[in-house]
Amino acid sequence: MTTATAPMIRRRGVMLVVSSPSGAGKTTLTRTLLERDHDVSLSISVTTRPARPGEIDGVHYHFITKDEFQGMITRGELLEHAHVYGHSYGTPRSAVEAALADGKDVLFDIDWQGAQQLRLAAEHDLVGIFILPPSLAELERRLRARAQDPEEVVQHRLAQVTNDVTHWAEYDYVLVNQDLETSMTALTAILIAERMKRRRNLGLAEFVEQFRRQPDLPS
Ligand code: 5GP
Repeated sequence: MTTATAPMIRRRGVMLVVSSPSGAGKTTLTRTLLERDHDVSLSISVTTRPARPGEIDGVHYHFITKDEFQGMITRGELLEHAHVYGHSYGTPRSAVEAALADGKDVLFDIDWQGAQQLRLAAEHDLVGIFILPPSLAELERRLRARAQDPEEVVQHRLAQVTNDVTHWAEYDYVLVNQDLETSMTALTAILIAERMKRRRNLGLAEFVEQFRRQPDLPS
């Protein structure tokens, strides 16, 4: 997906933060965006949670020990970190900073605690999107349909939802995820508009300056 100002105008990447209560359909939405838009890459978090069946180290997460996680915090290598559903999660700093400076957008699939910390660290880069399920009943159905987590994990996550949804107003956009294609249209529209924000298009001043340098313009 290209935008009207791309590719000749140098721009800073968008920090696209997507959060939701567990089971709202965020993973399907973010995966679809990554498949369709090759200017967006996923920030791969570190976590102390064990890998689920089918999850690949370095693709879904970097699975690390608690000691390794603590070491990354101490060395300042995490942009943010949080404890979610009994495990630690964090965003490695260096890959994100390099991508944004290179005009590449970075997608963050992180919870509201991480989103708050990232906003403090990088307010001008960040665009926050909160995904809501159409109803609590639908959310419960989706959580059970996953059938990957034990019953007590499902119960724990359902209880967390009540708390998680209270954070909706901390985001720039809120999407009620009724169906994939409608939500993808909204997500894509948001990303295109955010890419075109004047402050991100760092090369605009230089681009406009060339018009002033044209010789012999009629006055
Ligand atoms: P899951 O264990 O289902 O993959 O993720 C559980 C929750 O942790 C999700 O809400 C997800 O967005 C959040 N999460 C994943 N990575 C990070 C991270 O790096 N930082 C924070 N703060 N939350 C994360």
